[in-house]
Amino acid sequence: MKFPSLNTQILLGAVLGIVLGFLLGSTEPGSAVQEAGLYTSTMVGGIFIGLLKMVLVPLLFTSIVVGVANLQAHQQMHRVWISTLVFFSISMGIAVLLALVATNIFKPGAGMHLSMFADATQNFHSEQLTVGEFFSQFILGLFQNPFAALAQSNILAVVIFALIVGIAIVIGGERYRHFLALMQEAFDLVMMIVGWVMRLAPFGIMALLAKLVATQDSSLFASMGEFMLLVVGIMLVHGVIILPGILYIITRVTPWQFWKGARDALVTAFATSSSSATMPVTIRCTEQQLGVKRNIAGFVVPLGATINMDGTALYEASAALFIANLVGVELNLVQQLIVFFMAMLASIGAPGIPSAGMVTMVMVLQSVGLPAEAIAILLPIDRLLDTVRTTVNVEGDMVGSLIVQEIVASSEHKPVAGG
Ligand code: ASP
Repeated sequence: MKFPSLNTQILLGAVLGIVLGFLLGSTEPGSAVQEAGLYTSTMVGGIFIGLLKMVLVPLLFTSIVVGVANLQAHQQMHRVWISTLVFFSISMGIAVLLALVATNIFKPGAGMHLSMFADATQNFHSEQLTVGEFFSQFILGLFQNPFAALAQSNILAVVIFALIVGIAIVIGGERYRHFLALMQEAFDLVMMIVGWVMRLAPFGIMALLAKLVATQDSSLFASMGEFMLLVVGIMLVHGVIILPGILYIITRVTPWQFWKGARDALVTAFATSSSSATMPVTIRCTEQQLGVKRNIAGFVVPLGATINMDGTALYEASAALFIANLVGVELNLVQQLIVFFMAMLASIGAPGIPSAGMVTMVMVLQSVGLPAEAIAILLPIDRLLDTVRTTVNVEGDMVGSLIVQEIVASSEHKPVAGG
């Protein structure tokens, strides 16, 4: 008999968790069975969350160092990489903004006050910072002794240090090839560990859901449905209107021409939930169907597959607000600004593999004091939403390639530095 795939196991884990949760919830409150059930689910779920937190910092660090250092091969193509990074930042910024606005308007999950997270949310401090104070704290928090930052999971300082190390590797060139190879290996190694942690996901999800259902009422599921609809709606606006709109304005490529050329990659992204796995198809479509030159597609697409994730960024921002609604806390403007930046960083730090966004979701939640355990609510719907967000991620890489090509071509009369 063939062993079911991890996707099927996660689904089974989710279903079993919900059933177990209902059973546990219907046993005598305080009975030995219920106590034992809740204790076991707290332990198993806690271990799973702990493992996710364990891999987060090394994953983020190595993924960013390697992503930035890969610019090395193209270091003369200043115009290409500057326009690439500017486009990536703008498109992700628009995606997150869209998500924040839509989630604030529709407020999925508002008024729920989940009791499961009552303890965790006691740590939540509704910080009353002014925007000025926020920025000074934000800027000062960027730089820290990297070892302290790693130890304290100061994600932002880790990201900044990783960026600086990546840039140093690019500038140092050949001299640091061993260190780059080491970082590449460290990244592969962490990814292997992430793979192991994901093997435990069915059990972790089962335990977390069992506890959630046993201690919650069914209105939670209605809220989850609302949230899913909202996320798909925002993805559609971004993927069908905004990205093709920007593309048309800058390059005059019509949405129809674009989709015709991009179709194979979009379908592959949807089916695999992995930008990295889709990358060969994305490069092929971008070069052969959309007519982007090899040296541009060969740079923009691989870099985009690791750092440019519009779908993931908008999902993480929307999910953080949804969780805040569920646990009954109001995020003020400053906290929403933090969510804005963290969602962008979290999507940059997420590698292009299935459910990577779920690992980095932890850092978005923690940045504003929301309980990391709340990803239990997002896990069961994660795989479903991952299909759509990966499709939008890959679409962004192809749109980016066309736009960068246009920008480089339009400045062709000026010599592109060394490129
Ligand atoms: N699966 C996504 C990708 O590969 C990343 C994520 O959001 O989990 O693009």
